[in-house]
Amino acid sequence: MTSYPHLLAPLRVGSLTLPHRMIMGSMHTGLEETPGGEHELARFYVERVRGGAGLIVTGGISPNEEGAARHDGAHLSREDQLPPHRTVTDAVHSEGGLIALQLMHSGRYAMHANAVAPSPLRAPINKVTPRELSTEEVERTVEDFARAAALAQQAGYDGVEIMGSEGYLINEFLVVHTNQRTDRYGGSDAARRRFAVEVVRRVREATGPDFLVMYRLSALDLVPDAQEFEQVLALGREVEEAGVSIINTGIGWHEARIPTIATNVPPAAFTWVSRALRENLSVPVAAVNRMNTPEIGEDVIARGDADLVCMARPFLADPAFVAKAREERPAEINTCIACNQACLDHTFSGKRMSCLVNPRAMREDELALGPTRTAERIAVVGAGPAGMAFAEAAAARGHHVTLFEEQPEIGGQFQLARRIPGKADYGHTIRYFRTRLAELGVTVRTGHTATSQDLADADRVVLATGVTPRIPGIAGEDGPTVLGYKDVLEGAPVGERVAVVGGGGIGFDVAHFLTHDPDADFYREWGVDRTLEARGGLLRPEPTAPLRHVTVLQRGEGKPGARLGTTTGWIHRAELHMAGVDFMTGVQYQRIDGDGVHVLVPGTGTLEDNAAGGGAGSAPRQQTRAGAAAAAGHSQAVRQEAGHPGAATAVALAPGKVELLVPADTVVLCAGQESRAELAEQLTGGRPVHVIGGAHVASELDAKRAIKEAVELAASLP
Ligand code: FAD
Ligand code: NAP
Ligand code: SF4
Repeated sequence: MTSYPHLLAPLRVGSLTLPHRMIMGSMHTGLEETPGGEHELARFYVERVRGGAGLIVTGGISPNEEGAARHDGAHLSREDQLPPHRTVTDAVHSEGGLIALQLMHSGRYAMHANAVAPSPLRAPINKVTPRELSTEEVERTVEDFARAAALAQQAGYDGVEIMGSEGYLINEFLVVHTNQRTDRYGGSDAARRRFAVEVVRRVREATGPDFLVMYRLSALDLVPDAQEFEQVLALGREVEEAGVSIINTGIGWHEARIPTIATNVPPAAFTWVSRALRENLSVPVAAVNRMNTPEIGEDVIARGDADLVCMARPFLADPAFVAKAREERPAEINTCIACNQACLDHTFSGKRMSCLVNPRAMREDELALGPTRTAERIAVVGAGPAGMAFAEAAAARGHHVTLFEEQPEIGGQFQLARRIPGKADYGHTIRYFRTRLAELGVTVRTGHTATSQDLADADRVVLATGVTPRIPGIAGEDGPTVLGYKDVLEGAPVGERVAVVGGGGIGFDVAHFLTHDPDADFYREWGVDRTLEARGGLLRPEPTAPLRHVTVLQRGEGKPGARLGTTTGWIHRAELHMAGVDFMTGVQYQRIDGDGVHVLVPGTGTLEDNAAGGGAGSAPRQQTRAGAAAAAGHSQAVRQEAGHPGAATAVALAPGKVELLVPADTVVLCAGQESRAELAEQLTGGRPVHVIGGAHVASELDAKRAIKEAVELAASLP
C-alpha cells in the first residue's frame, strides 16, 4: 500500500505507458548549446531516470535559427545536428526512461537581431524589436516545427512538447496584444489560433500516430488583451483534434507582472485552471507550478485537478524524488524551495543552471560523492546551511561526523528565513538535513557552543560558524527602540512606524514580514481572476492594508533591492510597493533616538524654500512631513502625501545636505553581516581546518554559496 496511489499509478498515453503521473518538466540547462555538453546532459538525465523519473521533457530547442533564444541558442533543423541528441536519448533509454524534446520558438522573446514575431511589437522584457513574419514565413515556420519533430523522432526521442505558452511565438499568435495581423493568421480568434493548430497538425503528420505529442497550452496568459478562457478551450479542442496526446498547462507569460512560480506563490496555486481544462477536454491534462512534494502531487490528482503533474525544479533539487516517494521516504526528499537562485536566475543571466539546495545538479560528475578511501573523524561547527550540507555530504562519503550547533535547533539563518511570509518552504531544507543527518549517523550536538576543547579529537575541523549581524555604529543604536532583525523575526514587539536600516535582502524580507498580513489572499493581492471570466485571468490587484508603515533606509544611491534575484527581485520590490513601504537612498546616518532615525541626505535649499514650494533642484512640493526629502530631490525617498505617519520630517538644512527625521517607534538593524570565525585562531594541532560559508566570507553571502562551498569541500576530501 502506498501513500500516493494516484501519483504513482501508471498512465497509458497512445503507445507509451508512463510509469507514474510525474513528468519532469522542461528546464533549459545551458548545456543544450554547449559543444560536447550532451555528455553531461545525458549524465544529468540518467541520474534522474535512476531516481525514478518517467517522462522527461528537455530544455527548449527551436525548430529554426531565428526562434532560438539567443544568437547561439540551440535549434534543430538538420540531420547533422542529430548525433548529440542520440547520445542523450540512448543514455535515457538505456536506463529505462522516456524523453521528449521541447520545441520552443522564442518569437519576440529571442534576444538576437533576427527575432521574429506575428507583429513587430517589442516585449517589455526584451531590448530587441522583432521583425514581422510574412505569411509565407509563417507557413515555413509551421513546416520547420514539423521537420524538427521528425528529426527529434529520428534522434530517438519518444515525443515532443510543443511550447505554446509563456509568451513565446505560438502564444504570441493567439492574442491581440501581440498579433495585429490581417492575413489568415490574424484578425479573428479563429485566425489567431490557426498557427498553433497547423503546427500541431503538421507535427502529428510528420511523426505518425505513435509519437507522443504534448502541447503546452497557455491557459492563463496573465497579460492585458489576452485570451478569454473560452478561446483557450476552443484552442484546446482544436489541438486535440489535430492530434495532441497530452495537454500541459501554461500559466502566465514571462512578461506578466504576477508571480507564478516563485516562493511566495502558494502550493499548487494554479491547478484549478488545469481542472477547468480537464473538465472540458478529453486528452490527459498536466498541472504545473509550485508543486514540490509528493503529497501535493497526490492531492492534485486525487481531487481531479489533473491527470499528471509536471514538475521541473523539484527534479533539480532531488534526482531521486520519485524513488523516495515510491519507497515511502518523503522526509528524505531534498525539496525545491522555489528560490530560483541557481536555476532560473542562472539561465536568465547566461550561466549554467544548478540548484541552491543541490549544487550537484548539472555537475554530477564533477561533484561525485563517492565513498572515501580514508574515513576520518570530522568535527563541524555550526549547523547553518553550510555546516548541515557539509556534514551530510561528508557522512554520505563514509566519514564520521560530529556537528555542533549552539542553538537548540539546526538550520542557522534558515530558521529566520523560513519565518518570512512566502518563505515557509525554507523549512523543508532544515527538515531534509535533519532527516539525512540522523539516517547517516551524524552525531548532532545542539544547544552547545563548541570550543577548541570539543574539537581536540577530530582529524579534521570544518568551521561553518556563519555570520553575525553587523552593528553599524550609529549613535543611539543601543537605545530601547532599536532591534536586530533576529529579534524581530523571533517575535519581539514592533511599533506602528518602523525604520529599517539597510535595504539588502534581509532589509527587504524584514519590511515584508512587518507589513504583510498573513491572511492576505494571493489572488486578490496580485489580481488573478479565479472565476475564469476575465480576459487573460487579469483583475485589478487589491493589496491588503499593510500592518505597519515601514521606511527602508540605505546609504547607497542605487535602486533599492538591485542585488535581489534576477527573476524574483521585481516580486520583492512589488510586494513592498503594494505595502506602501517608503525607500530613502543615499542617507548618512546621524543618530537614532526616541523620535526615530536622523539622517542627512544630499540636497540643497532651505526650509523656507521648501515650505514655499521652491526648493532648489527639487520637484515635489509638499511641505512639512513629506516635504524636505522631496525638496532634496529624493523622489523615491518619502511618500508624498503630507501627514503620512511614516513620512520623514525636516528638522534642519545644511549646504548640500538636508537633515531629516524618519519618525519611527521601532528601528530595525539590517545592516549586513560579519563573519564569525573566532574559533579558527584557537585551534592547534596541525590538523586540516576549513572555514566555509559565512564564516569564510560574509560579504554577498547567500545560502547558494554556503551550500556549494560545503559540498565542494566534502567532494574534495580524500
Ligand atoms: P549561518 O546560517 O549563520 O549558520 C551558522 C551556524 O553556526 C549558526 O546556527 C550558529 O548558531 C552556529 N554557530 C556559530 N558558532 C558556533 C559555535 N562556536 N558552536 C556551535 N555553533 C555555532 N539566503 C539565500 O540564499 N536566499 C534567501 O532567500 C535568503 N533569505 C534569508 C532571509 C533571512 C531573514 C535571513 C536572516 C537570511 C536569508 N538568507 C538567504 C541568507 C542565508 O540564510 C545565509 O546566507 C546562510 O544561512 C549562511 O549559511 P552559513 O551556514 O554560512 O551560516
Ligand atoms: P546585503 O544584501 O549585503 O545588505 C546589507 C545592507 O546593509 C545594505 O543595504 C547596505 O547598504 C547596508 N549596510 C552595510 N553596512 C552598513 C553599515 N555599516 N551601516 C549601515 N548600513 C550598512 O546583506 P543582508 O541584507 O544582510 O543579506 C545577507 C545575505 O542574505 C545577502 O547576501 C542576500 O543575498 C541574502 N538574502 C537573500 C534574499 C533573497 O531573497 N534572495 C533574502 C534575504 C537575504 P548600504 O551600504 O547602501 O547602506
Ligand atoms: Fe528550486 Fe531554488 Fe533549486 Fe531552483 S535553485 S531548483 S528554485 S531550490
